[in-house]
Amino acid sequence: MTSRNFAASDLTRIAGAIFSAAGSQPAEAQMVADHLVQANLAGHDSHGVMRIAKYVDWVLAGEVLANRHATVVTDKGGLLVIDGGFGYGQVIGWEAMGLLGARAKRHGFACAALRNAGHLGRIGAWAEQLAADGLASVHFVNTSGYGILVAPHGGSDRRLSANPIAAGVPMTGGDVILDIATSVIAEGKIQVTRNKGEALPEGLILDGAGKPTTDPARFYAPPPGAILPFGGHKGFGLSFFCEVLAGALTGGGSSHPDNPTAKRLVNNMLSLAFDPAAFGSAEAFATDLVRLADWTKGSPPGEAGGEVLLPGEPERRTRAARLRDGIPLDKETRRQIAAAAKRVGGTLPPEFRE
Ligand code: NAD
Repeated sequence: MTSRNFAASDLTRIAGAIFSAAGSQPAEAQMVADHLVQANLAGHDSHGVMRIAKYVDWVLAGEVLANRHATVVTDKGGLLVIDGGFGYGQVIGWEAMGLLGARAKRHGFACAALRNAGHLGRIGAWAEQLAADGLASVHFVNTSGYGILVAPHGGSDRRLSANPIAAGVPMTGGDVILDIATSVIAEGKIQVTRNKGEALPEGLILDGAGKPTTDPARFYAPPPGAILPFGGHKGFGLSFFCEVLAGALTGGGSSHPDNPTAKRLVNNMLSLAFDPAAFGSAEAFATDLVRLADWTKGSPPGEAGGEVLLPGEPERRTRAARLRDGIPLDKETRRQIAAAAKRVGGTLPPEFRE
């Protein structure tokens, strides 16, 4: 389908106007828009402006509440339990990470248990926020029921969420940011593939009968299909612990259709933040990291012309390229954004309406 490139600043302005028209105060509209466009810049289109249409659906249905803020419900110094009040995850996540970062600086280590946030988007953004503050971090995320998409290893239907895990550490020359779903593919990437009218590679999804398929439409057809966990029992095991740590422990609830919040997309996240300086010498830590990175990247390429990339490097490269060349949006995604704008009474430039 016809793809067109848009400047990040234009997409941010357009997305911000839609969220404003949908009821967000200017700062919130800007923050949500910026997070989505940053996901596009990082190359994760599944978590970019393609999400506008769903976010508008949710806010109009009262499933996401505009202009909410993170509320600390338990404060034990190094442990904060935070309730998102079903607000936009971009705002709640940013506020929660701000609180967590301050506690990690004070105590050397801190934990934030965030529950009842709206969609937290690209989870790597939260590791980046803390890394920018000099902190290492790890994040476990689940959804409490709405996002049940993934078959357990050995099973054949949807039982678990895509359950991403992110980790980050500041490093000279570029922060290292790992950001992965525990499903073999993020659900949004199935949507992207369907929007482009393409087939998926083999080994990623099952159809409604529990049989392997490459057709993204079969995943959404009644009865719905399921995504496989990455790495068989290993991804499944990590996913299960996302449910334990982000779901059961935070109080947001693990994936289950009977969960009280299972009818709306709620993300819960357990985040751990570490201040390297509190563990010993910040300089020695920084030096060791660079040595580790150089050692790892020094491995001879497995294939001619290949190279070892550290987590976060592909996103940095894509960001540089897309800031230069623009962000590609396929026709179906443009149509969905235009329809969302119309629903909230906004207007869009003509290239969205073609
Ligand atoms: P992915 O498979 O593209 O993996 C991305 C990670 O792998 C990044 O850390 C990247 O730097 C690293 N990477 C990629 N290629 C590499 C290479 N050649 N060498 C070394 N490292 C490499 O990501 P995904 O699992 O499809 O997840 C996509 C996005 O979806 C993530 O941002 C995730 O947070 C998001 N997500 C969010 C939710 C939610 O509930 N909010 C759920 C699932 C996924």
